[in-house]
Amino acid sequence: MPDIHETLRTVWGYDAFRPRQEEIVRAVLAGRDTLALLPTGGGKSLCFQVPALAMRKLCLVVSPLIALMKDQTERLRKLGVRAASITSGMDQHEVENTLNSAGLGKLDFLYVSPERLLTSIFQARLPGLPLGLIAVDEAHCISQWGYDFRPPYLKIAEVREKHPDVPVLALTASATAMVADDIMLRLGFKAPHLVRGPFQRPELALWISRGEDRTGRLLRIARHTQGSGIIYLRQRKGTVRIAGLLKQHGISAAAYHAGLSPEERDAVQQQWMRGEIRFVAATNAFGMGIDKADVRTVVHMEPPPDLESYYQEAGRAGRDGTAAFAFLLAHESDEVALRDRFAASFPTLAEVRRVYQAFADQHRIALGSGEFETYDLDLRTIADRTALSPATVNHCLKALELDGGIALSEAVRTPSRVGIRATSADVYDIRVRDKRLGPVLEALQRMYGGLFEEPAIIDEERISRHLNLSVNQVIGLLRDLHRREVVFYRPRNDKPTVTLLVARRDASKLTLDKEALELRKERARQRLEAMIHFTFGADQCRERTLLGYFGEYTSGPCGHCDVCTSRTDHHKSVVAESSPAPLPTSNGILEHRWATDINDR
Ligand code: ADP
Repeated sequence: MPDIHETLRTVWGYDAFRPRQEEIVRAVLAGRDTLALLPTGGGKSLCFQVPALAMRKLCLVVSPLIALMKDQTERLRKLGVRAASITSGMDQHEVENTLNSAGLGKLDFLYVSPERLLTSIFQARLPGLPLGLIAVDEAHCISQWGYDFRPPYLKIAEVREKHPDVPVLALTASATAMVADDIMLRLGFKAPHLVRGPFQRPELALWISRGEDRTGRLLRIARHTQGSGIIYLRQRKGTVRIAGLLKQHGISAAAYHAGLSPEERDAVQQQWMRGEIRFVAATNAFGMGIDKADVRTVVHMEPPPDLESYYQEAGRAGRDGTAAFAFLLAHESDEVALRDRFAASFPTLAEVRRVYQAFADQHRIALGSGEFETYDLDLRTIADRTALSPATVNHCLKALELDGGIALSEAVRTPSRVGIRATSADVYDIRVRDKRLGPVLEALQRMYGGLFEEPAIIDEERISRHLNLSVNQVIGLLRDLHRREVVFYRPRNDKPTVTLLVARRDASKLTLDKEALELRKERARQRLEAMIHFTFGADQCRERTLLGYFGEYTSGPCGHCDVCTSRTDHHKSVVAESSPAPLPTSNGILEHRWATDINDR
């Protein structure tokens, strides 16, 4: 058995495993199919990275989130580990190069987005890959019962058929018992094996407050707490309003949502990470890959759509193990709003058809073409063309994705990349003879080495300065070289994308699988009811309700949520003022008792 502690120390510099990590790593090394259920921040990636490195074989990692994939491959590379990813939007040539490296044993980790598994090139190369482990991140995406079903995930079972002896490690932070069973079934586990991490967060007090004035409550929270916080809102404009409000009251804050430029988003995130601003008022676009341990407060200005999202977002507070709060500011009207939003998230077939048509028109995709092509997604344009709201357009696209016709990818900033496709003789020839294209090729080779072997990240501005041309001229020349197949050039992008998984169909004949739709609606309704019950029920410890939903049973009430505290207070007033019931204090940072005071006055 390889020394996994040695791997942990030498590669990552960590002294010990976190709870359940070692058990998972050992199970994988023993060849057992395993489902690891660990909370966000529990250290899921190491569970497959350590055994894969110890095995010295290729680990195929399926992940739906391009930003996370990019982040992980970059981190691994910095540690000297050989990692690459294949995502939608990549050039065929680039995909082939990466698969070649993987096939030749030049990679330790190959990250793939699920829709890439469906492509013929991937299917053809798959049997030849020297696989030692298949890791399935965000494994709940394989279950129709889960909250983020993605049909291409079902293809992972086929990957397994080609490598029957390779174990699979499925990882997720949110799966009810039913979803967990479904994951193991759909991934073709040889025998069920579930390792569940501790989801209980003793340092985190879950607090639901009800009342009229949400902003008043928020201000009281901001004044009573210290340290960093995140305020979650559903709407972009709400984030701007709330950040403004806090600033007016002398509390440092900034807004964060997907509509900001990547530079603006980065700047806000960095300032907050460094503690220069206390609060980020954000949509759910804020959070992924954020690794800040000392978040003291998370506030939901309104209930999120389901407990999976709630747990994930609330759980960003108190990662350092020091007392923290997660507030949910509810209002009587929230139940109706949640139900309305639920109804709106299932658009009509006619709306779905209109959106599909508008998208195809916008990109001029001919009938029967476009399979596995990736296109930029511009919700506003489609909304304008269809006269539907951007939210409805989004739901229509989601319906198409759930039906297996398209794959959506979040906005990720990908830098421009260039690799050389032509032979060195041809490149030399162009450099000598072509007065227009020659200098660009020369600059590329001079500024970025190894372009024949591997594509490099380039900066068009730098090249333009070097050649004394405008940036647009450089981009034009690069595009020209790309058209002539001398180089492949992928310009930078920061838009969400749509990949067609089925060639463009006739919108008027488009149908959606009715049975699957009904099933999904029913599951979504159950999640909605659970969220409503959690928000408006006031008879059971919050932590207990939440953990119970995820199948974890606690030995007793948490003692510090709003329900538990109100009981303690009641108990106290009934018993005797002089013998106060012990109230949890919190290392001097917070006194939980003040929180009873945030409601409207
Ligand atoms: P998850 O995917 O479960 O949300 P990650 O795998 O991203 O969590 O890990 C969260 C953070 O914890 C990362 O910065 C990671 O390097 C760190 N981490 C994971 N395991 C350990 C460990 N055993 N010791 C110290 N840090 C760890």
